Amino acid sequence: MSHPTSHDDSGQIALTEQWSAHNYHPLPVVVAEAEGVWVTDVSGKRYMDMLAAYSALNFGHRHAELIAVAKAQLDRVTLTSRAFFNDQLGPFCRDLAQLCGMEMVLPMNTGAEAVETALKTARKWGYQVKKVPEGRAKIITCENNFHGRTISIVSFSTDPQAKGDFGPYTPGFVSIPYGDLGALERAIDGDTVAFLVEPIQGEAGIIVPPAGFLAKARELCRKQNVLFIADEIQSGLGRTGATFTCDLDAVKPDMYIVGKAIAGGIMPLSAVVSRRDVLGVFKPGDHGSTFGGNPLACALGRKVVEILRTGQYQKNSALQGQYLMDSLRAAKLPVVKDVRGRGLWVGIEIKKESGVARTYCERLMAEGMLCKDTHEQTMRLAPPLCITRAEVDWALERLIKVLR
Ligand code: PLP
Repeated sequence: MSHPTSHDDSGQIALTEQWSAHNYHPLPVVVAEAEGVWVTDVSGKRYMDMLAAYSALNFGHRHAELIAVAKAQLDRVTLTSRAFFNDQLGPFCRDLAQLCGMEMVLPMNTGAEAVETALKTARKWGYQVKKVPEGRAKIITCENNFHGRTISIVSFSTDPQAKGDFGPYTPGFVSIPYGDLGALERAIDGDTVAFLVEPIQGEAGIIVPPAGFLAKARELCRKQNVLFIADEIQSGLGRTGATFTCDLDAVKPDMYIVGKAIAGGIMPLSAVVSRRDVLGVFKPGDHGSTFGGNPLACALGRKVVEILRTGQYQKNSALQGQYLMDSLRAAKLPVVKDVRGRGLWVGIEIKKESGVARTYCERLMAEGMLCKDTHEQTMRLAPPLCITRAEVDWALERLIKVLR
């Protein structure tokens, strides 16, 4: 693959292309250092990071308090496995459960693992608590979902690229159109154990469901004894201006799935958070992970929960996000079909006749801004939540120039 606009005297792009599988198509920038909302490439050029590692860096690159916690924990103990206890796991689980208003946490590492864990929890709960006949548990998912890349998760993907050539697929999932309450109602039967939903669909292009959908779906699930599982891996932890996107609709799910920013983007950490009557179905040996609940990640997770308790990042996300979206809409940019989102999670849909979003991402890169396209036509903006008004103005100047 050639990268005519790359700033890469170091040969890193060629090296990566030669030796790593081509399962990504990165912008041709090689990051060497980062701080706050800014990254610096190997040639010393600075860029604003408008992706924040798909929202794993909600608190910014190298947040001082998080780096201090990581360094301190590196000097103590980093991994015990769950064969032994460690002195960070218990406090982390307590703090995260309390943040969620829940009773139990099951820690894993990546988002996909936490989604798998939620699905396993729902099935086990279905057989043991709801008394669904063996082998019949059914989970409802949404069209255009993105929950990760494992075989089971892509089994219920509706994206041909995510799914193609990875069969045979895991059975037990049915799909409804996102935001369609009637379809959800019709899909639920006596074997249904869970409804898995992204409160806003990120990878699909920052798709916000119709007003009231989440609250009504939640209520329907309650009535039908179906677990409402909110995948807040990308939408949670301040991204949309609240701790969880569900909070914006006063919805409390049966299960939260968190990942990405829960250890500040420094360590992989994810978790399923729920009540005792749900997560209590697990017995020793039912499920696990060598790294899940490791003290290094958990120490970071504790600090992240502490940071989230201040509400500071949620507030800034709501404020700057609204300003960013209002300014983009007011600019009436000729190539833009739609601007949508919540908080600092903004999708800019490019008109089909104006080309694909990737082209605009490449132009923005030349202007010193890194962002990512999704599904051909949508550019998503998801900067670290510490972004200032002056930095948003800096970004707007470039966005308006490129999208004019
Ligand atoms: N769920 C959602 C909503 C996501 O956005 C993602 C990743 O983008 C995942 C799950 C998967 O997370 P991971 O890439 O850490 O496996």
